[in-house]
Formats: sequence, structure tokens, C-alpha cells
Amino acid sequence: MSKTDLSTSLLKWYQHNGRDLPWRIKGGAHPDPYVILVSEFMLQQTTVKTVIPYFERFMKRFPTIESLAQAELEEIYLYWQGLGYYTRARSLHTTAQIIMNDYNGKFPQTKQEILKLKGFGPYTVASFLALAFNQPETVIDGNVTRIICRLYHLTKPTDKITDKIRQLAENLTDSAHASDYASAIMDLGALVCTPKNPLCNQCPWSDFCQSKNLPDLEKIPYKTKISKTEKNGFVYLIFNNKNQIFIRKRTEPGLLTGLYEFPWSETPLYPEAEDTELNISHIFTHIKLSLNIQTLHKNTSPTKGIFVDISELSNYPLSTLMKKVINIWLKKS
Ligand code: SF4
Repeated sequence: MSKTDLSTSLLKWYQHNGRDLPWRIKGGAHPDPYVILVSEFMLQQTTVKTVIPYFERFMKRFPTIESLAQAELEEIYLYWQGLGYYTRARSLHTTAQIIMNDYNGKFPQTKQEILKLKGFGPYTVASFLALAFNQPETVIDGNVTRIICRLYHLTKPTDKITDKIRQLAENLTDSAHASDYASAIMDLGALVCTPKNPLCNQCPWSDFCQSKNLPDLEKIPYKTKISKTEKNGFVYLIFNNKNQIFIRKRTEPGLLTGLYEFPWSETPLYPEAEDTELNISHIFTHIKLSLNIQTLHKNTSPTKGIFVDISELSNYPLSTLMKKVINIWLKKS
């Protein structure tokens, strides 16, 4: 099968079987790059299924880049709450402001300019330029990596053969239909060439695939194992005499900056606190953090922060971990 045949069969498959997504228009680039911008930021490290309701709510409240640029970050966090990785929300906000202030609301279209915006890495740049402007960029995500490794039966760990994967993926890219090709290959990975039980008999590339029917098919792509660091600590639910709960805004630079949280630490902060015997675990990329939930009473703020009614907590953007903490405590108390 020639490169053209592969592309033609994939695009034909996509026209009939590709997903209808709220940020997608089949048959070329999306006419509104802002739609692609928001969806690309939301989709980083989050599944399509999870993103859809968030995207729809977000676009209703911030329908234009101008409305997003003018919004307060705290309100954006409220619409992002539950998606996690809040750095993306901050970067999206900053990017919207740069485009409004420095480009008069018109999206830049060169790699160099886009890389100077906030929150764009090589993957997001390629994907944004292909989907928003039909530029001949090759998009390589987990789905594409899996397909390439299976197509060519590559059995070395993916981190050892990134250049090879890129080169093969670039060779296959249909530059004349960059937007549809990018969407099509990602859908092929999501719907057909799935990690488990790939549907090879429905695959437009099955005649060309070197792994089809091989016993190690589901093991591909091979990966180097990364062990997670485990950390333990304590999280404190502090109540005043009005039964309000204490929260503080996180100011330390990092993933959760600007979000509210209950005080927590890897070492005990309040020896007088009571152990609720409730524990919560959360995984941050390579760290597994387990916190023991403790309660105590104080009538004045123990540190910088505020006491709020529990019923008003939803007005403050809390990280997913802190939501888990309050939910498990409310369920058990
Ligand atoms: S034939 Fe099977 S393994 Fe090969 S690309 Fe298609 S779905 Fe994946």
C-alpha cells in the first residue's frame, strides 16, 4: 500500500466512522481557532469523554477569546474544577490575554509565535496548527504512537525510539488534509487500534499492518516502567464555633497555585487534632500522595486564609484532592 492509499483509506474510514465532537468539523480546519484552542488545552492529560461536558459549559460562559481574556482567573477555575491540572487553565487565560493584547484578537499562525504563548508544547502546537489552520503538522499522541508501533511492529520501549516513531508518523501524514488526517488517526487509535482487543478486522490499515495477528499485539507499544514515589501526610479540617471550615489559597508556585485547600503537610501540624481514621490517596503524575484526615477546632485563622460555610465551598475552586477530602469526610460524618 502506498502512502496515498493509506491516507485515502484512513480518510474514508474517518468520514463514516470518525467521532462527532463538539469542537470538531469534518472536512477541513475548524473555522474558529478559539474552539480548537480551548479543546486542545482541556484534552491535555484528560479523556475526550470527560472533557465534553466541561467544554460545553465553558464555551457557553466564555464563547469568545475576548470573553475569556476579560474573565477573572478565579471564575475560570470554577469552570475548570474537576478537570484537574489547573496549570492548563492559567495558561489558557494568559494565552487569551496575549492574543487580545499583542495580536488584536487574531490568532498567530506560525510555530515560533505560538510557542511564545503560554502552555504550548510541541504536541499542542502541532495539533493546534493542523486542526485550526490545516497546516501540514504531524500530531503524535499516545494513540498515534500505539498505531505506528503496531503498524511497523516496533518492539523497543517508546522512549528509546521517539525519533523513529516521529519519522514514520511524519512520512504517513497527509499534508494536503492535515486537519482531517490528524483527527482520523487519533480516532483510529481511540476506536479501533485500542490498547486492549484492537478491532483489526475493522481497521482500514489492516492489510499493511505488521503486528496484526501476532501474539504480542496487545503488548505494543512497549514502555519503560516508571515507578511512582509514595508520599504520606496529614490534612486538617479546622472548624470555628460557627461550624465554618477553614480554607486557604495556595500561593506556592506549582500545579495547584491559586486553588483553595485545607491545610495539609507531610509532617504533623496540629498535635491536638483528632484522627478521623479516614485516609485519602491521590496520584499526581509520578507521585502517590496519601493523606490522613484530621479535625480540630480553632476560633481564629490558624494561618492566612478564611472560614467559610461548608455549603459555600463550591464557590471556591478546590483541587480534586481537596474535593475528595471533604466528600469522604461528609459521607462518613
Ligand atoms: S490492524 Fe490492528 S494492530 Fe494494526 S493498526 Fe489496525 S487495529 Fe492496529
